[in-house]
Amino acid sequence: MQIDFSTPLPTSSQLFRRAAGIDPQGSPAPRDCKCAMCAAQLKAGDPVNAIGKDTFGESFNNKLDIHEAGDVLCGDCAALWQRDFLMKYSKTYATPSGVFKLASNEDIQAFILTPPRPPFVAVYNTRQQQHMIWRTPLCLSNEVLIVRLDDEILHIDRDKVLRAVSAWQRTLARMKELGFKGLPAYPERTLSSRATGSIRDDVAERISGDSEAGARDIETLRSLRVGEWWAMCAINKVDLDSPASWPLPVKLLPA
Ligand SMILES: [Zn+2]
Repeated sequence: MQIDFSTPLPTSSQLFRRAAGIDPQGSPAPRDCKCAMCAAQLKAGDPVNAIGKDTFGESFNNKLDIHEAGDVLCGDCAALWQRDFLMKYSKTYATPSGVFKLASNEDIQAFILTPPRPPFVAVYNTRQQQHMIWRTPLCLSNEVLIVRLDDEILHIDRDKVLRAVSAWQRTLARMKELGFKGLPAYPERTLSSRATGSIRDDVAERISGDSEAGARDIETLRSLRVGEWWAMCAINKVDLDSPASWPLPVKLLPA
């Protein structure tokens, strides 16, 4: 996938705010400056907001994410600092053509199976209101997808996930033939479970000993990182051979 580097890439906030179709907030900057949140390099005249002593006060939980000293809050970060984007639209991804859902299993399937054209920014908030967008790096690849899940940055190797789906389905089918109940592992989408990413010992032992192909499948499943397990939770039942059955991306904004 080719990315056009002839114009500067947007920051995550710039891309998301434009994708959502909302206006930037603030008054014209008197001189060139930099956003303290998304680190956008701003020109005199760009909409900005002064940083006061209460801007990053008691209730602001992401002081550690402000890595570089900035002079202002940019018009994009300010526009996204509202309940809708801290909560309502905080399981989404944004591309230059809009903001899309990333909430249900079907949304995550669509995201993995037909990934957005980069650059894009993807967030998955499992908590109450929280800042997600400006803290998330722009994803420049549709092979290794970046998603912020709360305080974690997930890297999802698509090809690895697709191979794991096949490995999972073959393992499950063989488990049934052998009389095993349950699943090969118990992926947990919030990643809060300590068992996330662990293949059951009894299953691993039996299937690995069963055939070389079985051993390879267990190895494939064991090679997954946390982001790929997050994807697997949503996608493990998909029929990879039937693209017509795959869900399509659902656009939320512009409304
Ligand atoms: Zn900003």
